[in-house]
Parts: sequence; C-alpha cells; structure tokens
Amino acid sequence: MTSLFGIIAHPVAHSLSPAMHNAAFKALKMDARFDAFDVLPEDLEKFMKEHRELKGMAVSIPHKETVGQYLDEIDPIAREIGAVNTVYSKGEKRCGTNTDAPGFLRAVKEAMPELKGKRAVILGAGGAARAVVWALTKEGMEVAILNRTGEKAEMLAKAFQAVKDPQIKVAKNWEEIGGKIDLIVNTTSVGLEGHEEPELVPARYFHSNQVVFDLVYQKKSITKLLVYAQSAGAKIVDGKAMLLYQGMLQFELWTGQKAPKEVMRTALK
Ligand code: NAP
Repeated sequence: MTSLFGIIAHPVAHSLSPAMHNAAFKALKMDARFDAFDVLPEDLEKFMKEHRELKGMAVSIPHKETVGQYLDEIDPIAREIGAVNTVYSKGEKRCGTNTDAPGFLRAVKEAMPELKGKRAVILGAGGAARAVVWALTKEGMEVAILNRTGEKAEMLAKAFQAVKDPQIKVAKNWEEIGGKIDLIVNTTSVGLEGHEEPELVPARYFHSNQVVFDLVYQKKSITKLLVYAQSAGAKIVDGKAMLLYQGMLQFELWTGQKAPKEVMRTALK
C-alpha cells in the first residue's frame, strides 16, 4: 500500500516540499507519495482528526505554533523552540519535532564553521526567528534581534531567557547594535517572490568578512538582500540550503532511510 505524507500550510501552492520529497521517494523506488494540503487555521483540528493516514507531515505557516495541541508527544527541541515543523509516527502515537533549527545550523556552518563567541543580528521575530535564535544561542553566539514590531522581539527574547541563559539582546535600530557583525540572518518574510522588497540592511553594515543568510528563497533567483550583501563582498547563503537540510532530516525520520541529498537538491532547483 502506498505510504502517504504531506505538507499542511496556508497558502501552500508555493511550497517546494512536494517536489523535494517525491523526487526522493522516486529515487529510492519507494511506494510513497507526498501531497500539499491547503489548511486554514480554523480547519486544523478537523484536518488532524480526519487524516490519520498520513505517516508524516511537514508543517508550515500558520500552523507551526498550534499543531502541537493535536499531537501525542512533542520532543524537547520543539517544546523549547515553541514550534513544530515535522509530525512523525511512533507506533500508534503522533509526535512533533522541529527540523528547522538543525537544518538552519547545518546550512550556516557550511559558510561559517565556528560560531561560538561571534555576533549575529536576527531580522524578524516570528516562528522562523524562534528556531534561528534557539540554534545560534545554543552554539554560543551573541544574538541581537531587530524586528519591525519591537514588542514581538522583546517577547521572543524573554521566552528564551526563561528556558536558558543565552546572550540575547533586543535592538531598536542598527545604531544600537554597533560593533562588528559576523552574521546577519533574515527571518522576516521580506523577499518573498512577487512582493515588494524594502531595504532591510543599510549598505554600511555589510562587510567582506561576514555571512548573510536569507531564509526567504525565490524559485529562480536570489533576494535583493543577498545581491547587495554579495556585492559588498559578504558570503551569502540562500534559504534553499536550509529547506534542503530540514527536509533531509524529515525524510530520514519518516522513512528510516538515508536521504538522497543530490536528488533532493536538484528537485529544489
Ligand atoms: P511569521 O511568523 O509570519 O513572521 C514574519 C516576520 O516578518 C515578523 O517578524 C514580521 O514583523 C516580519 N515582517 C513581515 N513583513 C515585513 C516588512 N515589510 N518589513 C519588515 N519586517 C516584516 O513568519 P515565519 O514563520 O517566521 O517565516 C518567515 C519567513 O521565513 C517566511 O518567508 C518563510 O517562508 C521563511 N522560512 C524559510 C525556511 C527555509 O527552510 N528556508 C524555514 C522557515 C521559514 P512584525 O512582527 O513586525 O509583523
């Protein structure tokens, strides 16, 4: 019988996860299928009750913070981050974890292998920022959060300081951050294809000994943020690298098989 998997999100049409996971199933000759489900927030409970046939789910905006209430178990990583991006089965139980954080870390370490003691600025304070701040502080980085809505950045910093004691600051503006910035991470939705892309980082804050990571990815090009950073000599990392690594972790959790990296990477292109 065909094993069924899927992504739940709203909207979902733009998602590259079906292409990536179906390519992997095909390459490993598995009798499995990955579908996209457009689920509104008010329909999530009904969807979770009616779709027990799904052996694994990728969870995206706007369900990462709410899907946990319909699961039997949430692992410590997802609990600390406060977001589930992956649902998997353990016997009869449905469990939640977060592969965004380790996926992000693997991608960032390819560009900056040593993170400890370095300084990062995180743009944004939504669900993705939670995974990024959690991952970087765990690695011993000093982190400043800069968000359009300052109160949300304050809330995020407070939530993490209750769990452990990382070096997290909230900045109101770039001047307040000061000093050398080793890593800039965009976790806002600025840069999404087909939308206006306002300037996120004033040009003077880029430098050649820096990594700029944009979680937002475009199907055929890179965001303006990455174009400007690259022209200033910074090393850039596109969101597709994180998408690939978090997806490989999901695949391995769901199937118990080694994820075919190059097949999945090609599918994302
Ligand atoms: P979210 O919870 O909705 O948060 C969105 C963030 O963007 C908020 O901090 C919001 O600021 C900020 N923002 C939105 N429009 C803005 C604007 N015009 N100017 C400045 N800031 C703006 O979303 P999320 O779950 O964190 O996801 C954010 C992005 O990351 C999405 O595009 C998602 O696709 C991407 N992502 C990529 C991966 C990957 O694997 N590459 C994984 C996860 C997420 P306010 O608080 O002021 O509203």
